[in-house]
Amino acid sequence: MRRETLLLLDRDGTLMEDVGYPNDPATVRLVPGAADAVRELVQRGFVPAIVSNQSGIARGIVSPAQAKAVHDRFVAMFADASGVRLPAFYCPHGPDDGCDCRKPEIGLLRRAAVELDKVGRPAVMIGDKTSDVQAGRRFGACAIRLGPHDGMADFASDDWSAVVDFVLNREPTHVGA
Ligand SMILES: [Mg+2]
Ligand SMILES: [Zn+2]
Repeated sequence: MRRETLLLLDRDGTLMEDVGYPNDPATVRLVPGAADAVRELVQRGFVPAIVSNQSGIARGIVSPAQAKAVHDRFVAMFADASGVRLPAFYCPHGPDDGCDCRKPEIGLLRRAAVELDKVGRPAVMIGDKTSDVQAGRRFGACAIRLGPHDGMADFASDDWSAVVDFVLNREPTHVGA
């Protein structure tokens, strides 16, 4: 059952310390507790994927090569710490581009579901911003905020271990997308 649950994860501020528009792999740091949390959820059968807005690319603050260098460094550090190599889906657009993938739109979430063969399966979305919660809810997922409650999230805490407890003790929400 859990093997069918998609675990959608924001990156910056959720798994990786938020440094604004990340363009230097030397600044990559992991959010405390994130690697242990994802390792535990994967051991319980969740299928993880990063879904991340990277508008620094559209804004010209981050080059595609820098974005790739940060991505490569993050994925390698996270794999070292957790044993989990995360697939990632990025939106490179800006807020005025009208794309369908910049959260709170759900294009990235849908892409992750399609590419990981989890369409119509339960999903959980975890992120540090209200836009993550909005995207998760629009997608039909259980939406969790790693941070203060915003009145919309199914659960909120700034403590990863509390998030893991919540996810493991709830009934799965099925998405129809
Ligand atoms: Mg974030
Ligand atoms: Zn986009």
